[in-house]
Amino acid sequence: MLGKSVSKSSRLRVPCLRRYGSAAPLAVCFLFVTLTTAFSGVSSVAYMIWVPNGILLAYLLLAPRHRWTAYLSVGLVAHVIGSALAHTPWWNTLLSTALDMAEVLIAALLLRGRTAQLPRFTDYNYLFRFLAVAVLAAPLATASIFALVAAPWLHASTGTVFLQWASTDGLGTSVATPVFVAILSARFNKSISLKTTASYLILIAAASFATLSQDRLQLQFLLYPLLILVLLRLGLGWSAMATLIVAGVGSWFTAHGQGPFTLSNFLAPLGATIELQIFLAAAMLMLYSVSLVLERQKATERKLQEIASLHRMVTENSRDVIIVANFDGNRSYVSSAAESMVGWKPEEALAFTSLELVHPDDQNKVKAEVAELHSGREDVMVECRVRKSNGEYLWVEAALRLIRDPGTGLPSGILNTVRDISERKRSEQQLREAYRAVEALALTDGLTGVANRRRFDQYLTIEWRRSLRNPQQLSLLMLDVDLFKLYNDTYGHPRGDNGLKQIAEACMDVVSRPGDLVARFGGEEFVVVLPNTNSEGALQVANEICESLRNRRLPHTGNPFGIVTISIGCATLIPQAGMHAPDLIAMADHALYEAKHNGRNQVCVGSVLEERGEESKTPVLQQAAMGKLA
Ligand code: GH3
Ligand code: MG
Ligand code: MG
Repeated sequence: MLGKSVSKSSRLRVPCLRRYGSAAPLAVCFLFVTLTTAFSGVSSVAYMIWVPNGILLAYLLLAPRHRWTAYLSVGLVAHVIGSALAHTPWWNTLLSTALDMAEVLIAALLLRGRTAQLPRFTDYNYLFRFLAVAVLAAPLATASIFALVAAPWLHASTGTVFLQWASTDGLGTSVATPVFVAILSARFNKSISLKTTASYLILIAAASFATLSQDRLQLQFLLYPLLILVLLRLGLGWSAMATLIVAGVGSWFTAHGQGPFTLSNFLAPLGATIELQIFLAAAMLMLYSVSLVLERQKATERKLQEIASLHRMVTENSRDVIIVANFDGNRSYVSSAAESMVGWKPEEALAFTSLELVHPDDQNKVKAEVAELHSGREDVMVECRVRKSNGEYLWVEAALRLIRDPGTGLPSGILNTVRDISERKRSEQQLREAYRAVEALALTDGLTGVANRRRFDQYLTIEWRRSLRNPQQLSLLMLDVDLFKLYNDTYGHPRGDNGLKQIAEACMDVVSRPGDLVARFGGEEFVVVLPNTNSEGALQVANEICESLRNRRLPHTGNPFGIVTISIGCATLIPQAGMHAPDLIAMADHALYEAKHNGRNQVCVGSVLEERGEESKTPVLQQAAMGKLA
């Protein structure tokens, strides 16, 4: 409808003004004012209702300020011509023209002020100002001047003339201005056929004649529902036109002393006019009020449609699948992205409950997150696998958000935004594998393929702690190749390296328990960690390693035995508080030293000697068992 305030340019948007340029509205205004002036002048209606001022005021209220001069000039000329057509005496024409123009100008100035405010009769503040200024103040001001000057000429009392002018002008304006503002500013619905429009107007005219020509019953109120009907079907512009028809018919009969408004003798003869005016003003107020409600409803509908189409655009264009489901997993909406992501058409996906498509291994995880939502959490995230239409599973990330009932605020369902994270999962898997490979490389000896020194240190620490917590014997073998410098000197380093590989393999052939670890300690020295193994067991493993190497019969001319031999130091202890892993290494090293000292190619066993009365548990060599090889 009408805006609260408008800029200079938008004021020109009044459809009628825009469509016919600037001259056409002036011409139409001229026609209206001339005809209504002439009609009022020739008929006795003039004594009851004066509408030209109301029409001119409607034009001024809708036009930009700089066009007022043009409208006032047109109004003035139209007034003079109309009066001449009605054979009004020259003095009356001059005086009433001047006063009428002044009345319109005062009302327009006071209503518009400096603001660019357009008339809004549904705003009670504006309506009150309109009634105070245009219906009361301006007509009262001009009425007093007219009464003072014209009463002697008219041979009537000043009071009668004053009342006559003020009531006819005030009542005329109270109907004409709202009606013409509605007509001039309405956007007429072009989709409605001329025939429909005409039939409604004919219906109104007929009903007006039927109800306003008779004076037996107060049937005029039947016109209200008809006017509302015209408003609903044709809009505010045409319903204002219909009110004009009612006004015309009503004025005619009332002026001729007929119709329902003449039934009461209240304030006769003006009472009938006042009743008619109130009837018409109430009709206009009703039409304005209903149209305001309709406009607001339409604006709300438009906004809802905009929001709905925006939602549709977002959900249907999102690469994520958007799902709305209740807490039982029954879905009410699945966006079209489901087809490209998992191969299910939205209508197919709707037939499954949310959990049915989740991988059995992930269902408990998903259930737990949904329970979190149920207990009041606003949103949760869960990664799971969902079944595609081809039976494969796809890794997705589901962002679950609580939907609350707008009325009660209680949880009513779940908004689920599902994102394909298979690519991310693949990269994570590759990264994990790469990390494992790097880690394995970092813990493996490049030459022999057994664990390296770093791995040995870590492993021994772990096993040491385990044996400390859960007391059990921990054994360590330390191997050193006999006269290996000589081997290198004789056969060269490449064969020396190969010899080291053979020794590592010989160790691996023997060491079989899952908890055992063979590692290269450095140079041509190896270590074997044997958790939960006693001294005898360690000695047996050591001898088997020697046996395994001997069976390989690697020639070594520099060795008195003619083949590559090794010396092994064995150490076994139950770790206790105050001891450290390097103590075990030192013990094995001592035993190895003893084996070398005793002539190489043998196994020596060291063990902890607990010295009586002493606190320290320093491992010392207790016994050296020889296992010489032939
Ligand atoms: P012993 O019986 O007393 O152990 O005599 P040995 O000659 O083996 O003496 P030692 O243990 O000190 O000798 C270490 C030699 O082992 C030095 C080097 O020639 C050889 N060696 C150490 N690391 C490597 C390696 O990675 N490759 C080869 N080919 N030889 C190595
Ligand atoms: Mg050595
Ligand atoms: Mg050696």
